[in-house]
Amino acid sequence: MARQCTHFDGSVAAPRSDRCEGCGSTFNLRVCTTCGHVGCCESQKGHNTAHAKASGHPIIKSLPLGPGAFTWCYVCKAYVE
Ligand SMILES: [Zn+2]
Ligand SMILES: [Zn+2]
Ligand SMILES: [Zn+2]
Repeated sequence: MARQCTHFDGSVAAPRSDRCEGCGSTFNLRVCTTCGHVGCCESQKGHNTAHAKASGHPIIKSLPLGPGAFTWCYVCKAYVE
């Protein structure tokens, strides 16, 4: 059964960097929709995950933002439709 995520209200903070704030990576980036933090994905150094754990911010989107971007909820551990 798919669960409906209740953590994402649809608003997305503008990315505050054009590279990972942890290591400077410029590809496969994720933005925190709560505060705009930019971090790299798990296949790199996982700085987006580290930010989510440290801050408690639950939702990230893949960059670049647009029709192809996905949304992930760390609380639900599921993609947000
Ligand atoms: Zn959720
Ligand atoms: Zn990084
Ligand atoms: Zn954040």
